[in-house]
Amino acid sequence: MVENFILPRQNLYTETRLFVSMGVGEECGVVACVLKEDFAETFNVAEILNNLLGELQHRGQTSSGIATFSKHNKKLLKTLKEAGKVAHLFKNWDKNYTAQKMKEFNGEIGIGHVRYATSNVDDDAFTILEEAQPFLRRHGRPWKRFAIAFNGHIANYDELKKELLEEGYILDTDVDTEVIMHLISLSLKKHLTHTPEGLFKSFEEVIAKLDGSFNCVFLNASGDLVVFRDPLGLRPLVIGENEKFFAVASESKALNKVGITNFRDVAPGEVVIIKNGEMICKSLKIDSRCAHCHFEYVYFSDTCSINDSILVNDVRKNLGKILGREERLKGRFGEEDWMVVPVPSTSIPAAVAYSYETNVAFSFSLIKNDVGRGFINSTEMRKTIMNAKYSIIPESVRDKKVILVDDSIIRGETCQRVIKLLRDAGASEVHLRVTELPIKFPCFYGVDFPSYKELIAGDINGSKEEIEKQVAQKINADSMGFISFEGLKESLGGNGDTFCFACLTGKYPTEKGQELADGLR
Ligand code: SF4
Repeated sequence: MVENFILPRQNLYTETRLFVSMGVGEECGVVACVLKEDFAETFNVAEILNNLLGELQHRGQTSSGIATFSKHNKKLLKTLKEAGKVAHLFKNWDKNYTAQKMKEFNGEIGIGHVRYATSNVDDDAFTILEEAQPFLRRHGRPWKRFAIAFNGHIANYDELKKELLEEGYILDTDVDTEVIMHLISLSLKKHLTHTPEGLFKSFEEVIAKLDGSFNCVFLNASGDLVVFRDPLGLRPLVIGENEKFFAVASESKALNKVGITNFRDVAPGEVVIIKNGEMICKSLKIDSRCAHCHFEYVYFSDTCSINDSILVNDVRKNLGKILGREERLKGRFGEEDWMVVPVPSTSIPAAVAYSYETNVAFSFSLIKNDVGRGFINSTEMRKTIMNAKYSIIPESVRDKKVILVDDSIIRGETCQRVIKLLRDAGASEVHLRVTELPIKFPCFYGVDFPSYKELIAGDINGSKEEIEKQVAQKINADSMGFISFEGLKESLGGNGDTFCFACLTGKYPTEKGQELADGLR
């Protein structure tokens, strides 16, 4: 029976994480670009994709890839993928190789992807490449031959995979994108996809089947680009244009890089088709609910990005300001030897605002070395990275009472190491302040938090004060404090109605997400 071969993906979220090697939980970045007709000969879409992807490197470093379409190319649609960072894709250090690949993948339309595999980082290069995106669906008909790249996580993946297996499909990977790719190809069969109406119908059908977060860019060998975002708008996605090209990216920072200042969010539930140089948009939203991932603002997104019309940097400043306002150590701030120190780099705007709000001196005493983001790597790799991640300026913290400001605390390993660094350098006290609440629940929408047992506050129950006390003991801080839930919502600029907080509250915005969480309980 085919069912016997379906490994239930929700087991990723159990304490034991039996299927940790399956490699499915991921947070990624997608891009797309369409050259306008007058500039199709003078610009190279591969170069623009390379620049766009380079600005999304913080969203994924496991693999990078592009697919480009050129009406001058016999194959029309070609993919180039590499394990590792975007620089590896075109071997930016080797001018001849870069020039040759740029020529080979020159085209008028393209899509791209950076992958952030949280579970498969120990895999061999072959598997990493096999799971790298864009995925290419080969077919003899140009409108049925397509490439697709995806950012998000499908909560009902197991059911969809089962359906496909029962239809007789063979799946090569455990990656959501492959399932979406086959669902799209099934829908494309049914509709007249030479026309925008047919394409809309196909994607409407696919979107109706998916539960979770999904931002997709699709490009067929007829030169049609389709972009869609899930109805709750869980992950950010922007689209813009200048006189030379249209561009799409997971974050606006990437559009800025290629000179696009005129951009907007792809609305939750919106499908955008760019065909023959014309952009056609349609909303498939059936209600007004949104659930933007609040963690994008706290940690994932780049500080200079504008997600759903909110500047990430503004949220981070608000978080620091409000955390400072809530600070209960305030009574002691009159003493001269206090010092606010950010854990670089995400928490810098918050730490500056915190210092301003509390009137405590600010110091860049910790220097971040370029070793990647600790949260995204395997246990072994994470430890190695964390040991090399920060350097300290001892003279600036000696005999100081340090208020260490961090964006979030997940396992607590980074904080623990930083606190030790500060104490070894002569800090007399170290107090940790965090611009997030304790993460207590799994994410089914693309952020692969560690298992319940590994989360620093996963097994601590009780009041906020009790959790803070126990976390402080675990990481050897003199005290620690999380921002309040009200403060977090206020930082996001409202009552929080349009955001997802499921990893804090256990209340999930989609049916399948809630079902998976209830099943674990
Ligand atoms: Fe973001 Fe948390 Fe919701 Fe996942 S559960 S989408 S990390 S807010």
